[in-house]
Amino acid sequence: MPQPDFDSAARDTLRLIGPDPQNWVPDRAGIDHNVVVVGGGHSGSTFAFALRRAGIGKVTVIDAAKDGPSSGIWLTFARMQKLRTPKSLAGPELGLPGLSFQSWYESRHGEAAYAEIDRIPRIDWAAYLDWYRSILNIPIRYGTRLVRIDPAPDHLRLHLEHAGGVSIERTRKLILANGFLGAGGPSIPDVIERGLPRQLYAHTSQPIDFGALRGKSVAVVGSAASAFDAAAVALESGASEVHLFARRHELASLPVIRIRGYPGAYDNYGALPDAIRWHQAIRFRQAGSTPPPDAIARAVKHRNFHLHLASPWTDARASGSQVVGVTPLGEFSFDFVIAGTGFTVDARQRPELGDFADDILLWRDRFTPPADEQDDGLGNYPYLGGGHEYLEKQPGRAPFLKDIHVFNPAAFVSYGLPVGDVPSFRRDIPGVVSRISRDLFLADLPAHETRINGSVDPDFDGEFYASSIWRGPHNVAAE
Ligand SMILES: Cc1cc2nc3c(=O)[nH]c(=O)nc-3n(C[C@H](O)[C@H](O)[C@H](O)COP(=O)(O)OP(=O)(O)OC[C@H]3O[C@@H](n4cnc5c(N)ncnc54)[C@H](O)[C@@H]3O)c2cc1C
Repeated sequence: MPQPDFDSAARDTLRLIGPDPQNWVPDRAGIDHNVVVVGGGHSGSTFAFALRRAGIGKVTVIDAAKDGPSSGIWLTFARMQKLRTPKSLAGPELGLPGLSFQSWYESRHGEAAYAEIDRIPRIDWAAYLDWYRSILNIPIRYGTRLVRIDPAPDHLRLHLEHAGGVSIERTRKLILANGFLGAGGPSIPDVIERGLPRQLYAHTSQPIDFGALRGKSVAVVGSAASAFDAAAVALESGASEVHLFARRHELASLPVIRIRGYPGAYDNYGALPDAIRWHQAIRFRQAGSTPPPDAIARAVKHRNFHLHLASPWTDARASGSQVVGVTPLGEFSFDFVIAGTGFTVDARQRPELGDFADDILLWRDRFTPPADEQDDGLGNYPYLGGGHEYLEKQPGRAPFLKDIHVFNPAAFVSYGLPVGDVPSFRRDIPGVVSRISRDLFLADLPAHETRINGSVDPDFDGEFYASSIWRGPHNVAAE
């Protein structure tokens, strides 16, 4: 029997769009790369394809993860069964239907099967991304971690840790597609981090041995999606009981970002005045991050799952092998605690940005919020430029910042979305690529001016039409 050809739509798409443009960026002596992309998850992989289609060559993608495939979070700390975002959103395919998740899924499972799924199963998303990298031949340099960015005139010297050593590679542009952890770090409440020995707690972004929680009582602090996912996995792994502690009096259920998903607001968000963007960020902060209903259902169907509302942990201490969590409504003891408390955005926490973190313009430097909209955490977000590039706090002190483009959740206040999520792709990946293209082009203007003023071979010569040239009426008479 002939094998089904799952990839024919993708191959057809690639045939129809034609070959990739030639690399138009002139080489510069001593420069290794035009662009380095940090992170080979779904964002970094899509950038690699988008830059290639823009004719920007000498691009390399690095990822600290030890082995491919499946870089990114999908087979590590993402524990939900389905993506949280709608299945219909445009994503890594960059407008080319034959490269979309839908096409990939339908070719393997049929149209009816795709119609039946309400959202994309997480495992399938990971498999699709592996396929995407493979069919588009996007190499990722695994086991390669950016540890320091060292600016030099006209380029960045990247210190890359690989196989136990550190080497330096030079690039003109850098894209940080390094996810939530690249924006800062895990946000762990002080009472847990300072009050408990390390073996008694974990953050949801860290590896957790759920098998070891069988028969154990588990507290989950936090009530957004990842907290519910961790609670569900603990329950499914046989925890004796799981208690989830929410600060709020009720679970966040208002998806305020959705209301501005229409094209006008989505496409033009970056052009909104600062006060409006800040207010939107505050509005999101106040409404809270909403767990999807199926994530809640996955936990609440267990009788040994208990939800504590209005119960922030105000203190925590170890008592023998147990953890005691203190809330306004009482004290509770557990064998283990999982902090499902999200992530911080703070450039000073990132080793690779450490040399110049204080030079980065932040929202707090740029905008003074009204008294009832103060928020220190949001003030820490970088105030990004039109190509998602860092700006300088003090003009002239760190001009190289314009060559670092931020494609991670630190772009939230500037761009209104957790950048790196699928919803940010359609607008922001082409936006960043077009800025990089413009910057590289203009930086080499003399070379391009020479190139575009260069000699051009004629398509034909005068002989081609000589016989039809009007030479007066006598010409016609003579015939
Ligand atoms: C639990 C969870 C569930 C989510 N679910 C959804 C969802 O359903 N839908 C959606 O649209 N979004 C979702 N998101 C948000 C977002 O899509 C994901 O965070 C997604 O993984 C972002 O992809 P990315 O490629 O930008 O970054 P990541 O997937 O985080 O990949 C970043 C990569 O960068 C590498 N890296 C980091 N630092 C360095 C360094 N210094 N040097 C080299 N490599 C480095 C990492 O190893 C990693 O592989 C979710 C986020 C989380 C945390």
